[in-house]
Amino acid sequence: MAKPDIPVIGLTGGIGSGKSAVADRFAAHGIPVVDTDQIAHDLTGPDGAAMPAILQAFGPGVQSANGALDRTVMRQRVFADPAVRKVLEAILHPMIRQASFEALSQSGGPYRVLVVPLLFETGHYQPWLARTLVVDCDEALQNERVMRRNGLSQEAVAAIMAAQLPRAERLARADDVIVNNGALEELMLQVDDKHRYYLANFAKTPQ
Ligand code: ADP
Repeated sequence: MAKPDIPVIGLTGGIGSGKSAVADRFAAHGIPVVDTDQIAHDLTGPDGAAMPAILQAFGPGVQSANGALDRTVMRQRVFADPAVRKVLEAILHPMIRQASFEALSQSGGPYRVLVVPLLFETGHYQPWLARTLVVDCDEALQNERVMRRNGLSQEAVAAIMAAQLPRAERLARADDVIVNNGALEELMLQVDDKHRYYLANFAKTPQ
């Protein structure tokens, strides 16, 4: 896959750091946002393009009544057997990359934002990016926000965080950082700053 013919900013951060809030603000400025999690969700929805291959690999037991992937069952199978995760990823990852590429190529705007929760962990998307932007937040706050949003226990949040890159490493790899330790208004102002910076330095100039 070639590099998209437009400047792409890769947006990442730990779970609950504020990626969606930041992405929504870029979108409010008219910047096209492509979210790899949303794409994965669509691919495994009722008429999702990944469903035939998933059913062929794992059988009808991983499908819920509406035709979508049964996430609870799939999660259990992935936890029970690491080989299952590998097979699932081998099906999904290339499809997510292809769909992301198409979505990025089809949208307009002076630059585009690609949200990839595990951007540095997988390394797949970095060749496409003009810039990486990390949303950072104190781990205690991150815990609190995810527990509240997803109704998860502290242990469950800790297990998810343990599977992600440590905060310091993520920060070390970032080109740009937004710190989300304060109020939402503060977060929005920081996104506005970055938007101006990307427009001034990375936007595609009209031909
Ligand atoms: P991510 O997409 O990185 O998982 P979200 O943008 O969904 O994170 O934020 C996680 C949760 O925390 C959401 O419920 C969001 O509304 C809330 N949140 C994010 N930033 C703030 C903030 N600065 N103040 C209060 N709540 C916040």
